[in-house]
Amino acid sequence: MYVEVDRGRCEGHGLCGERAPTVYGLDDEGYVAFAYEGRRVPKDSEEAAAAGAGVCPVAALLVRWDA
Ligand code: SF4
Repeated sequence: MYVEVDRGRCEGHGLCGERAPTVYGLDDEGYVAFAYEGRRVPKDSEEAAAAGAGVCPVAALLVRWDA
């Protein structure tokens, strides 16, 4: 799976990183930093990536299971 990060939507709430700190965090500017941006999420991190995306209040993290 892939997670597409829409930086234009991210408001830096940090909820994704609280839910899934192994894959999400905040960058120096206070916006989401994703460990696997632009590349396939390893199988053992898929659950965390999906869970973190699911709690984003502005839908800035789009999970794509088909890719
Ligand atoms: S939860 Fe959403 S708005 Fe908050 S840092 Fe993560 S991607 Fe950005």
